[in-house]
Amino acid sequence: MKVLVIGSGLGGLLSAALLSRAGHEVDVFERLPITGGRFTNIEYKGFQLSTGALHMIPHGPTGPLGTLLKELGAEVKIIRSNPMAIIRIPKEKDGTDYSQGYQDIDFHDFKKYFSLNNKIKLAILMSTTRIFPPKSGSMAQWCSKNLKGDWALRIADSFCGWALSLKAKDVPAAEVFEMIENMYRYSGSGVPLGGCKAVIESLINIISSCGGKIHTCSEVTQIIIENQKAIGIIANGKEYHGNIVISDIGHKETSRLYKYDTINSAAEKYLAAIKKLKSSAGIKICLASDEPLIGHAGVLLTPYSRRVNGINEVTNIDPSLAPAGKHLTMAHQCVHWDRLDKLEEEIDLGLKDLEEIFAGKEYEILLIQSYYGEWPVNRSSSGTDLTNKTPIEGLYVVGDGAKGKGGIEVDGIALGVRNAINDILNSYPINR
Ligand SMILES: Cc1cc2nc3c(=O)[nH]c(=O)nc-3n(C[C@H](O)[C@H](O)[C@H](O)COP(=O)(O)OP(=O)(O)OC[C@H]3O[C@@H](n4cnc5c(N)ncnc54)[C@H](O)[C@@H]3O)c2cc1C
Repeated sequence: MKVLVIGSGLGGLLSAALLSRAGHEVDVFERLPITGGRFTNIEYKGFQLSTGALHMIPHGPTGPLGTLLKELGAEVKIIRSNPMAIIRIPKEKDGTDYSQGYQDIDFHDFKKYFSLNNKIKLAILMSTTRIFPPKSGSMAQWCSKNLKGDWALRIADSFCGWALSLKAKDVPAAEVFEMIENMYRYSGSGVPLGGCKAVIESLINIISSCGGKIHTCSEVTQIIIENQKAIGIIANGKEYHGNIVISDIGHKETSRLYKYDTINSAAEKYLAAIKKLKSSAGIKICLASDEPLIGHAGVLLTPYSRRVNGINEVTNIDPSLAPAGKHLTMAHQCVHWDRLDKLEEEIDLGLKDLEEIFAGKEYEILLIQSYYGEWPVNRSSSGTDLTNKTPIEGLYVVGDGAKGKGGIEVDGIALGVRNAINDILNSYPINR
């Protein structure tokens, strides 16, 4: 079987590696001169910055991505972050200014700051929501309905902002509970040694060793459809034919690349669902320092800052991500849709947060990156993912526009890829 893959992001390369390992002929088309999409390194002043991700794999070596990489025989080592997460709060419990002193508490101890009443209520709620997850409503609504005070909402906002680049009011409560459950199930996040690029290079090695081809600087401008079936693509003006087309560029962008022969009810439904998709936006600020700013390998959640949701310092796990003796720290903040036209203001607020959080410490701002539109944090905000199928036979969508249920970020991508490939291998027998 001949497979054409549009885009060399993690979703595209995982699919290409699985199918080329299964004996299929695979061609990957990437419009940029580099591979990896939003999950690769860019070297700057000797630091391994990234095109997107914060070099973290949410569910570490034993999660969906870690497991898939292992199955593929990918040569990449994922080191578990320890502690899982730390919450930084101002010293004065009801204060809001980190520069007046702060205290760090372990994520597992966040209940410590609830009133006795809330503690009892939470213990009951935690066990009942496991069995009966909330059927509707956002995480913010769940917090204000069930727990008094603003502590729970601050933690929820900081957690959703870091993990999904969304505010708690924009994430279904059921989704957050599933994420927390998975955090504990897989024992937390991890960092691949060598950063995101190590994962991408290991996949490229697998694809190449199985005879797959990767065409960079090759923008796909059309998906060729015949009788409601994908039969090929056009890249750089040249036609390529195949049995299956897998797109790693999200449902919306994929649907712009073809025209329907006829719009049936399935296509109508699909087009309506696509219209509702919303990507999530964010800002990443990369800092360099001689001394560690955080000093541990977990995520530092900052629920009392103006904008920054969380910070990590990956050099505490992999010193090779910075020049010798230096540290790389990355802060992430979500940008709400109604603030997209005020990115400069959002950046200033984030920088002010960092001045307070790291008051008295010396650091250099290496790079500030903003992510939105066609280069977002997440193509489908959590809980809104469509499946990997499209109304066109033989056309699949993978990547963070079609994550598998319950999976976040790259682990969600791995779940989606597994679903898509299982479907392809069941529907199209090998006829190489
Ligand atoms: C600031 C930030 C922080 C993040 N942090 C993390 C993190 O720590 N951990 C984590 O798990 N996730 C994180 N993410 C999310 C993660 O980076 C993405 O979910 C993931 O990289 C998306 O991969 P993908 O395969 O869906 O697509 P992409 O990486 O977007 O790849 C798609 C590729 O297709 C190419 N392309 C587009 N159109 C065409 C065309 N017409 N023809 C050919 N090629 C085309 C693009 O150039 C691109 O290379 C973060 C994202 C951002 C932005």
